[in-house]
Amino acid sequence: MTRWLTGARDDPAERAHRVVPAALRAAYAWTVRHEHHDAMREVARMTGVVMEAHGPGHGPTTPIGLISCLRRRLGLLPALAGGRNTEISQVVLLGSDDRLTPDAYDLACEYALPVHGAPDAPQWMPTWTWMHADQIRRHTFKTLMDGRDQERYVASRRFLVENPAGLRSELGELIAESGVRPPPRGYTAIPSGHVHRSPDGRSWWWPCAVCHWPMAVAGTTVRCRHRPHSAVYRLTEATTAASRPSLSRIDEGRPRLARPVARPTADSLCVDSGIWRSVVVPGVSELRVKRSLEELGATVELWPRLDRYDLHVRAADEEFTVDLKEYHSAHRLIADLRSRPPEVRILLPKTHEHQLETLRTALPSLRVTTETKFCTEVRRALRTV
Ligand SMILES: [Zn+2]
Repeated sequence: MTRWLTGARDDPAERAHRVVPAALRAAYAWTVRHEHHDAMREVARMTGVVMEAHGPGHGPTTPIGLISCLRRRLGLLPALAGGRNTEISQVVLLGSDDRLTPDAYDLACEYALPVHGAPDAPQWMPTWTWMHADQIRRHTFKTLMDGRDQERYVASRRFLVENPAGLRSELGELIAESGVRPPPRGYTAIPSGHVHRSPDGRSWWWPCAVCHWPMAVAGTTVRCRHRPHSAVYRLTEATTAASRPSLSRIDEGRPRLARPVARPTADSLCVDSGIWRSVVVPGVSELRVKRSLEELGATVELWPRLDRYDLHVRAADEEFTVDLKEYHSAHRLIADLRSRPPEVRILLPKTHEHQLETLRTALPSLRVTTETKFCTEVRRALRTV
């Protein structure tokens, strides 16, 4: 069939582009079907999108058929079979416990997009299931940069990164004192998958030692949803009515993290999970890199000119400009860099330095470095004074 008859919609990459976000939306809706009465309607809507992408006689044809596909590797869906993106085709979205898998949070969320031709996602769907991270960031920053005052914008964005969760009263006081802008839609209740209910009826959450957002709770295992924040804990119930449940670390990672303390869920709030993933998680690395460069003796400006890029570094008489990229999927990062070539050098933080060679091979003209190499370069510039 000629291209003008089938159009771009017959392009395998374009089909995959529609199927992955629809599959993610259906998988999320399935996990909350007992809490939201129209969740099954969302699964049905997404089944329609997946059916349309596959064409007659291919792929799942009922909501239950789609759900059973989501318990297997996405690559088994005809639209994704034989594709070059092996990362996404290995992903299973739904675990046997009917929860989203870690891969759904880490990888599939980088493929989230508004689903073309489908109605807007219902209010109860978190933004990360249906908006591209860039859209969430733009939407958030638009609120923060109201007035186009650089100093206030940096203070508001930094506040969000440093205070993604806390007690309602504490957050209210901090916002009032500092005069920063709260995030769009404000702070919300701690999500249910991040809360532990003790047998005595009290409920608790724990901030991640790296990003300070509530860690996910599955049975007695507690860990941050962002896997590079690698600490994993086992919880032990409180022994007396006056005490709190406690955590003990069970992974063999970095030993230097402070052990998080349980906080009461009542009266606690946090930013929306989309803002956490798209703004807080990268922001934590941006602030950490800033700190380590300043310790070397450099001067670092955050998000200059209302976020034209991430860091402007002055070291002796040299200046450097970089944008940090913290994608789980190197494939997705390459696609995004191709569609919007960066104005400044890309910096891969320590947790993502392994992506350097993949990026160099795929995009030979890209200016890219790693946190380690960049620190060495800045140190060298400072030594020449
Ligand atoms: Zn974390």
